[in-house]
Amino acid sequence: MKLHLRQIPAEGQHLEGETDCPIPDLAAEKVTCAGPLRYSLDVGITGHALWANGSLHQPVTLECVSCLQPFDYTIDVPAFAIHTELAGPETVDLMPYMREDILLNLPPYPNCARHGGRVCKAATVETTVDDAARAEQKREADWAALDKLKLRK
Ligand SMILES: [Zn+2]
Repeated sequence: MKLHLRQIPAEGQHLEGETDCPIPDLAAEKVTCAGPLRYSLDVGITGHALWANGSLHQPVTLECVSCLQPFDYTIDVPAFAIHTELAGPETVDLMPYMREDILLNLPPYPNCARHGGRVCKAATVETTVDDAARAEQKREADWAALDKLKLRK
């Protein structure tokens, strides 16, 4: 997303819209864009610097680390802010900055229950196993109690 510096008025400008997915190369990591990047930004030029702040929203499809099922998630960057010195070119590409903040806000261990509001199938299986293990331990504890009683006699 390129900004044409000459088109930015002295008092700054509010920009809202959609632009291309900034992370098209993450398909191998099971992160794919499910739509365009939405932005709402205030931009301006102060001296020889460009500043921008606002919010970014990137809908993605992630893969759950537990059940390996894909689920929808929106990466929110509520406080996107940059301040960069202008080196002379007439355009500044915001995409590298947006990409960096999107990556920073990507869940490192996506989980469909925690991030997707779903019931994770893997979690259900784990719970069942845990319950069985607990029941087994309880049974052993009961037998141990019985054994002690026998010893006392
Ligand atoms: Zn899951």
